[in-house]
Amino acid sequence: MIEPISPQQQQQVRAATDAAIDLAGRCLSASFDYLPVDFDLSGRCAGMYQVRRGRRRIRYNPWIFAKYYVDSLKNTVIHEVAHYVVDCCHGHRSVKPHGAEWRGVMRTLGAEPEVRGDYDLEDIPQRNYRKFNYACICRSHLLTSIRHGRIQQQGAEYRCRRCSTPLRLAAESP
Ligand SMILES: [Zn+2]
Ligand SMILES: [Zn+2]
Repeated sequence: MIEPISPQQQQQVRAATDAAIDLAGRCLSASFDYLPVDFDLSGRCAGMYQVRRGRRRIRYNPWIFAKYYVDSLKNTVIHEVAHYVVDCCHGHRSVKPHGAEWRGVMRTLGAEPEVRGDYDLEDIPQRNYRKFNYACICRSHLLTSIRHGRIQQQGAEYRCRRCSTPLRLAAESP
């Protein structure tokens, strides 16, 4: 498994994000506030611009950054900052995520407006989406790996809402 980027690298990524926000301000004769930046993204995305309860932030995937540091510093940072700028100028929800507005901002910032999703993520931790077949006496149930782990390792019990018998791991489970 690859190690996530170091605190020093995180600092560099934050600085690159601030620099991209400054650049966008200069190019568009506007002023954009700096954003909180977190390194709490896992799975297949390198970055994500998020608005939740009115709070804006950029999330980066510290494993993908570790594996493709130079590329991520250049491309992922500008990609997410462009989403932020589009949100400031047009409203995040009123435009398509990688639509004309986003492509326009990318070009303004001197970046190619491509959506990149072609990283080889083999040694990067993935979310576990595996499902497990369980059954009560009336039907079968598909359980998440989290619930499966609670039952198998912590002795948790889940019951069917219809017949209220406990769920048991089905024989043909993958
Ligand atoms: Zn995007
Ligand atoms: Zn049942």
